[in-house]
Amino acid sequence: MAELKRLSESRDLTRIERIGAHSHIRGLGLDSSLEARDASEGMVGQLPARRAAGLILQLIRQGKIAGRAVLLAGQPGTGKTALAMGIAKSLGAETPFASVAASELFSLDLSKTEALTQAFRRAIGVRIKEEAEIIEGEVVEISIDRPLSAAVGSAAPSGATAPGKTGRLTLKTTDMETVYELGGKMIEALGKEKVQSGDVVALDKASGKVTKLGRSVGRSRDYDAVGPHTKFVKCPEGELQKRKEVVHCVTLHEIDVINSRTQGFLALFTGDTGEIRAEVREQIDTKVAEWREEGKAEIVPGVLFIDEVHMLDIECFSFLNRALENDMAPILVIATNRGITSIRGTNYRSPHGIPPDFLDRLLIITTQPYTEDDIRKILGIRCDEEDVEMSADAKVLLTKIGVETSLRYAIHLITSAALACQKRKGKVVEMEDISRVYQLFLDVKRSTQYLMEYQSQYMFNEVPGEADGND
Ligand code: ATP
Repeated sequence: MAELKRLSESRDLTRIERIGAHSHIRGLGLDSSLEARDASEGMVGQLPARRAAGLILQLIRQGKIAGRAVLLAGQPGTGKTALAMGIAKSLGAETPFASVAASELFSLDLSKTEALTQAFRRAIGVRIKEEAEIIEGEVVEISIDRPLSAAVGSAAPSGATAPGKTGRLTLKTTDMETVYELGGKMIEALGKEKVQSGDVVALDKASGKVTKLGRSVGRSRDYDAVGPHTKFVKCPEGELQKRKEVVHCVTLHEIDVINSRTQGFLALFTGDTGEIRAEVREQIDTKVAEWREEGKAEIVPGVLFIDEVHMLDIECFSFLNRALENDMAPILVIATNRGITSIRGTNYRSPHGIPPDFLDRLLIITTQPYTEDDIRKILGIRCDEEDVEMSADAKVLLTKIGVETSLRYAIHLITSAALACQKRKGKVVEMEDISRVYQLFLDVKRSTQYLMEYQSQYMFNEVPGEADGND
């Protein structure tokens, strides 16, 4: 348990912010009725696919599609990985999301079935509840997901503010009208939520969300509101001496690793987890089953995303077929940009290189090529994300390049054009910077053209009639 606690704490510390290819994706950009907004949460266009992904998301949240699989199929650069990221972001931090490229399974120092098993177990979460002692002098903030009852009256200002993101608000026991409040935002938030006289609530200033802490009884407070989604944050003042329930969320894979090596959870950071023995996993499954029965833990099926799924071979597909039957199985989301191609490890061809029996169990979402307008918007979002200021003319040119070549190529030019601009001591990326990097870096079409012209000068040239003189 102590290891698990350390793990969930250090995971928070090691989260690093980077500008990755999909760092601008913050969700699926859907409204409350799951309709896709044209451009929202970093997502642009691809409306039917986003709507379908939204439905999948809803099913995941309702726990209805554990053990099912979704295929994202479409041409290269049409946002399949972005969609998977969108699903992951919308699920929130507590639902595990594991992502792996099929080719990685063959390059690791593990058997492919072991690598797949590890990937599956990284996508299965365990919420472990633990009794924790609250130290005297600490206020524990509890956010609960059940609605607060009875409407609040008008609020009278006072200075009951705790430092940091959250503030405390105490409603006095008898007087519905007397509220210690934190300013306009709190009153606004309270207008939407309902609280009862005597409740102690907290406000997350960033989101404006009000959560109930418990009951205020005179000077001493009895914080006993614990819901299924209890989250704890320490505040530096107040008085409380009760024992409370603390929840840790870890994945089955993390529990496996902690139990399979003496150095325990450090192996998770080096990635050098090695093969985990079947007996270790069996013991862990038995233990988790016990915890579940005792009400100490619950399973949270997450999402396993496998990109380039056509790279899997027939053995992997058969493994996946079986693994999805397990009652703890996560939702499998796979993606491919291949059409009809051979199934790896066989002489047969099939759509996307996926065996027909596995294809049959998939919900298929297709992505479509982007319009010029979509490309312009995505490039605009990427410029903001990469903190690159670009003139309107340069944006027009870059969009044109994106249409003529590919979205991905145009995205790549943003950073290099910004460097070219920096080099000439400019502040705003202009057309000249775009043209410069366009000349420096070839896109696939021009690179192929170049190859066709100069192929005879390359080694192992197999085009007939040139270097080998066969024709
Ligand atoms: P491949 O088949 O080559 O793996 P893909 O379909 O997975 O390609 P992505 O990698 O998702 O394509 O998209 C290429 C780039 O464009 C990424 O940086 C991605 O974040 C961005 N992108 C794609 N679609 C969208 C979209 N609808 N909204 C915003 N950004 C997008």
